[in-house]
Amino acid sequence: MNKKKIAVIGGGPAGMVASIIASENPENEVYLFEKNDSLGKKLLITGSGRCNITNAESDVHKFIERYGKNGKFLFSSFSRFFNNDLLVFFENLGVRFVTERGGRVFPESNDANEVTDALIKKLKDNNVKINLNHELKDIKLVDDKFKLVFKNSEFLADKVIITCGGKSYPGTGSTGEIFKIIQKLEHKIVELKPSLVPLGLKEVFVKSLEGLSLKNVEAGILKNNKIIIKRFGEMLFTDKGVSGPIIFEISKYICRENPKDLTLSVDLKPALSLEQLNNRIRREMLDKNIIFKNLLRLLLPIRLADLFIDLLCIDEDKKIKHLSKEEINRLCNLLKHFELHITDLGNFYHSIVTSGGVDIKSINPKTMESKIIPNLYFAGEVIDIDGETGGYNLQAAFSTGFVAGRSTSDVANVRR
Ligand SMILES: Cc1cc2nc3c(=O)[nH]c(=O)nc-3n(C[C@H](O)[C@H](O)[C@H](O)COP(=O)(O)OP(=O)(O)OC[C@H]3O[C@@H](n4cnc5c(N)ncnc54)[C@H](O)[C@@H]3O)c2cc1C
Repeated sequence: MNKKKIAVIGGGPAGMVASIIASENPENEVYLFEKNDSLGKKLLITGSGRCNITNAESDVHKFIERYGKNGKFLFSSFSRFFNNDLLVFFENLGVRFVTERGGRVFPESNDANEVTDALIKKLKDNNVKINLNHELKDIKLVDDKFKLVFKNSEFLADKVIITCGGKSYPGTGSTGEIFKIIQKLEHKIVELKPSLVPLGLKEVFVKSLEGLSLKNVEAGILKNNKIIIKRFGEMLFTDKGVSGPIIFEISKYICRENPKDLTLSVDLKPALSLEQLNNRIRREMLDKNIIFKNLLRLLLPIRLADLFIDLLCIDEDKKIKHLSKEEINRLCNLLKHFELHITDLGNFYHSIVTSGGVDIKSINPKTMESKIIPNLYFAGEVIDIDGETGGYNLQAAFSTGFVAGRSTSDVANVRR
């Protein structure tokens, strides 16, 4: 039998699953090309080495919301291979999972090595030809085939699946060089931006808060005096700005903005309205014989309380029963709207994912095949799709990888 040669470029989660699925068709001969000397370098560091593989959210519509406006592109992939399908796929490879807070799913072993090793074993069992140290340098169209150019060799493929990732954490192999090759193939690339990143702030005083974690706060982004995105949860101060889960999520939605137009507004008492907070401070505190500094320390972690004394310019030893109405209002306003000015939207060295990539308009969402060049497919982060934290990015990589791998064999797709 004259087998079809399927080349998969990039040995991350999307490429490994695409190769496994494509190789299940005996009419295919699958070649996986990876520039590193090992597979899944980024997969190994996911979830701080624990691999938050997916999210347990069962409502596909809610799941898709976590990718922002391009999320709808994933609907077809998820209808064929969603979170439970992914877990069953891995359970068949011997990996067991647990679900944690926020629906985050991890391997029971808490070890990303287990996930990577399971994929590599399956690739070998399926006779996928793994070519390490093969960095794709160019793709040329030769009749109805693809000539793949590597540093020291060339390869002629019938079908190609590109799964080279984005540009984040370039040390793992995803350096973004692939986009030049894809552009030469006349595909539009949506400008790449770091997403899920810490944010830099103008206020030098944040240095005094370095390492301080705030739980149950609401952080929002103000643009032209309107909140454009907000998230409730945990954030962390760094030496030059802010980080942590809600900051990462917010960063996704502002990565294409001009930082000069943005202010971070933190609500330190989101359970209470401004009025309720004001009443509570008056009612519960005013009759106590305590000083302002101690009131603040009741309301806030010590380092933040001390900073607030400076920002409010109120004598720290003042008895709170002597605070003026205006001073209480100022305090409440600062607790509800602690505003910080954003100067820096992060970089690719620290971003968990890349926003931007191959324009979804040029890809058929049902097959992951290019609408411009037949038999060319894309999967994973190389596509202009990026999700929030919580397992959404790996699920997108696995689902699109599955669909691309399967589409190389779909009867409807074997039309040429
Ligand atoms: C620190 C960190 C933690 C993360 N944690 C999580 C998490 O817990 N859960 C989650 O859902 N997501 C997480 N992510 C995001 C997730 O890892 C990525 O979205 C996912 O790995 C994308 O998979 P991919 O296969 O598309 O690309 P990648 O994993 O980036 O793989 C692409 C592969 O292609 C190879 N390659 C690139 N160019 C070429 C070329 N020219 N020739 C040959 N090979 C090439 C690269 O070397 C690489 O191995 C995390 C990311 C980071 C950086």
